[in-house]
Amino acid sequence: MTNQVRGALNNADLLISKNLINGRWIGGNRAPIAVDDPFTLESFAEVPNLGENEANEAVAAAEVAFPAWAARPARERGAILRRWFELLVANRDDIARLITRENGKTYKEAQGEFDYGAGFIEFYADEATRALGEMIPAPVPGRRLYAEREPLGVAAAITPWNFPLAMLTRKVGPALAAGCTMVAKPASATPLTALAFARLGEEAGVPRGVFNIVTGSARLIGGVLTASPVVRKLSFTGSTEIGVQLYRECAGTMKKLGLELGGNAPLLVFDDADLETAVEAALVAKFRNGGQSCIAANRIYVQDGIREAFLSAFGERVGAMRAGDGFDPANDIGPLIDDAGKAKVAEHRDDALARGARLVVEGGEAQGRLFAPTLLADVPADAQIAHEETFGPLAGVIGFATLEEGLQLANATDFGLAAYLCSEDPKTIARVSRGLESGMVGINTGLISTPAAPFGGVKMSGLGKEGSHHGLEEYLNIKYLCQARL
Ligand code: ADP
Repeated sequence: MTNQVRGALNNADLLISKNLINGRWIGGNRAPIAVDDPFTLESFAEVPNLGENEANEAVAAAEVAFPAWAARPARERGAILRRWFELLVANRDDIARLITRENGKTYKEAQGEFDYGAGFIEFYADEATRALGEMIPAPVPGRRLYAEREPLGVAAAITPWNFPLAMLTRKVGPALAAGCTMVAKPASATPLTALAFARLGEEAGVPRGVFNIVTGSARLIGGVLTASPVVRKLSFTGSTEIGVQLYRECAGTMKKLGLELGGNAPLLVFDDADLETAVEAALVAKFRNGGQSCIAANRIYVQDGIREAFLSAFGERVGAMRAGDGFDPANDIGPLIDDAGKAKVAEHRDDALARGARLVVEGGEAQGRLFAPTLLADVPADAQIAHEETFGPLAGVIGFATLEEGLQLANATDFGLAAYLCSEDPKTIARVSRGLESGMVGINTGLISTPAAPFGGVKMSGLGKEGSHHGLEEYLNIKYLCQARL
């Protein structure tokens, strides 16, 4: 890259080493958390390592700020979100640089995440005014029955490292639009994007205490957020394991939960698919973000009649992909987030090979946390890659003969977030998309996410929806009012 300093920002004020609680930027007493660049492996920034006291302060601040924020006309809340969106857009390059720097994804993908992530703030700026109520025909004379939507109170967000901006904005946008206040805890690996986002919110006029951000121990901060009776909703994106734990922890205070958990998405390529479309869909669905996405196509099922042609065309494209520095435009994917992530991809490859899979594109381990795109064929249905999220740039192709068999294989998982299918036959499309046990289905495409559409899974992939008008609903309570003596 041409920058003198790798990933240097135009506005140095967006590299922040403090947390925002009750409108004040604070540090902490404990040794700070270092933020590493997953490509160079150097620590280049630090953020506070806060715990229970600060998390409690943040919850208290959000509680105090709630009544006034909830009482603001929705149009005013929307206008502040609109300003926030505009400030984000004005700082697009810097935010994208922070994303590449702390997450490792390519700069082009970071820009893509920026557009998607900022889009939630824009979408909910408009959606704020659409929390409509309803009139209900009264069963007896002299009464008026109606239902109103009101913000549910203080909401908490716990977000992962794979999309440092978008996973946060799709919680903050609807929460603030609805009139809720929020405490957010970003992943410790990627807190900088979230802090820059918070600073721009302050500049946009988000009042003190309405949006608070706390970095530090997940266990301590998470413990406060789940146990607090003041927090009425927890929205979490991360692993199913932690999601189940948080669900349990929230039972005692009867919180509403939004859980966006693990995937293990199937991609089904039928004999009647358009080959080029299927290859394109597989590339995007598998390798976006280096495979580190909960909707990544983890299992690629290809029908007997098209399999060899698919493997040859897909293999050519996978073999041409380069892994390297996210800031170098010649690269298609960046490093994995950490050493454990890299080890898991290698383990899934080795397990499949030991069970008889065939290596089509070798790829594999490279310098540091890099793992070059790898393609396996003849993966047996009992391989690890067919059951667990790989979360990396390893694609495994599994064969199937009939539509019924393909569908059965696709559904043979505890997860149900996204699924993809490629076919040119409307009947195949209709039967398969109805039969898939998943919250989202991509048909002839590997790119399905947009702020306007409802994102979320079934089975062990979670609860609730993010994005669209359904996403706003998650932060609202319905209050029924019955007025007599009219
Ligand atoms: P991932 O592997 O995608 O990071 P995790 O579920 O481990 O998935 O982490 C997602 C988010 O959840 C991160 O912000 C992490 O800090 C947080 N987290 C992890 N463990 C806990 C916990 N016990 N309580 C609350 N939050 C947690």
